[in-house]
Amino acid sequence: MMTAYNFSAGPAKLPEEVMLQAQNEFVDWNGQHSSVMEISHRSKAFLRVAEEAESDFRDLLTIPANYKVLFMHGGGRGQFAAVPLNLSAPEQCSTHIVTGSWSKGAVAESDKYNNAVVIAEATIKDGLKYVEPVKSDLQPDAAYCHFCPNETVDGIAFDWLPQVGSVPLVADMSSTILSQPLDIDKYGLIYAGAQKNIGPSGLSVVIVRDDLLGKAQAITPSFLDYSLQSQNDSMYNTPPTYSWYLAGLVFKWLKDKGGVNAIAAINDQKSALLYEAIDSSDFYNNPVHPDNRSKMNVPFTLANGELDSVFLEQAESAGLQALKGHRSVGGMRASIYNAMPLSGVQALVAFMKEFERKFG
Ligand SMILES: *Cc1c(COP(=O)(O)O)cnc(C)c1O
Repeated sequence: MMTAYNFSAGPAKLPEEVMLQAQNEFVDWNGQHSSVMEISHRSKAFLRVAEEAESDFRDLLTIPANYKVLFMHGGGRGQFAAVPLNLSAPEQCSTHIVTGSWSKGAVAESDKYNNAVVIAEATIKDGLKYVEPVKSDLQPDAAYCHFCPNETVDGIAFDWLPQVGSVPLVADMSSTILSQPLDIDKYGLIYAGAQKNIGPSGLSVVIVRDDLLGKAQAITPSFLDYSLQSQNDSMYNTPPTYSWYLAGLVFKWLKDKGGVNAIAAINDQKSALLYEAIDSSDFYNNPVHPDNRSKMNVPFTLANGELDSVFLEQAESAGLQALKGHRSVGGMRASIYNAMPLSGVQALVAFMKEFERKFG
C-alpha cells in the first residue's frame, strides 16, 4: 500500500497508533463483548474512560484545580453560542479580536446574545496579513474578550495575549490546543472543537475558571449550560461517548510521546521545514507576516495559479491528500496538526521541489 499523508484541516488525521488501537477494540472493548459506544455512559467502565481522559488532559496542559474541564456536544460553533450565553448578560458587551473567518463567525453568533464589539482586526503589513498586538481594551466593563490564536482557514496565528486589564480572556483554540504548552491561569475560558487536534468531530472540550460559572442567561439551552454540565460531570445529557473515548486515546498517545513540550518541538520542526521550502522559492508564496504564521495550518499559493489543479491532482496521486485551500481563500493549505509526522512534511516538501523543477 502506498504511504498516504492526509493534510485535511478538519476533521483531520488522527494518530495512526490510536486508529489501530481503536480498530482492535472496536467490537469487543475491555473484554466486554460490546463496543465502548454501545455501553451506558453511566456504567462504571465508561466512567473510568471519562475520568481518565479528563485527568490525562489536565496533566497534559497542567490545568489548575480552580478550572473545570467539560466535554460537550456541538463543536466549535456550539461554543460560539455557549460562551456569550454563559458568561454575559444580554445588555453586556463582549469584545472581540477578529483575525480570520472563525473569530469573525464568533462575533456574529455572540451578538445574538450580547453586544459584541470588535476592538481589533488583522491588517496588512509589508503586503502581508498581520495582527498588531492588542494593548488596551476601551471596554473595561466587557464580560470577556474573545480571540482565536490560530485561524484555521487563514493560517494566521499570534502568540501574545491581549492586554485587556481584568477582562477575562476567552480563546477559541480549536486548531491549536495541545500543540504547545499554555499558561492556563492567564485565561478565563478556553474551548476547542475536537476534530483538529483531539479526536472525532461533534465533541468540544471547554476549560473554564470556576468563578465564571453560574451566570448563564435564563434562555441558555440546558445542555449548553456550563454550571449544569459541570455539576453533572458533563453528563447532564448523554455525552458523545465514542468521541470522548477516542479523545482519551489521543491524550494517552500524546503523553507517551512526551507531552506538549515534546510535540511542540516537533511542530516547530515541521512548520519551519515547510515555510523554509515556501520562502526559498519564488514559485511558492505564503501571504502571512512572519510574526503571525501558523504552525498548524500553512496556506500557500503558486506563482501561476493556473497550475493549482495540476498541483493538487499530482499531489493526490503521490499520496499527499486534502491540500486544497479553503474555498474562501483558494490556493493550497497544509494542515500539520500533532498527528502529522515529520515524514509527512518531508514528503510534501520533496514533492513541492520536484513539482517546481517540472513546472517552474
Ligand atoms: C473548525 C473550527 C471551528 C468550528 O468547529 P465546528 O465543530 O465545525 O463548529 C471553530 N473555530 C475554529 C478555530 C476552528 O478551526
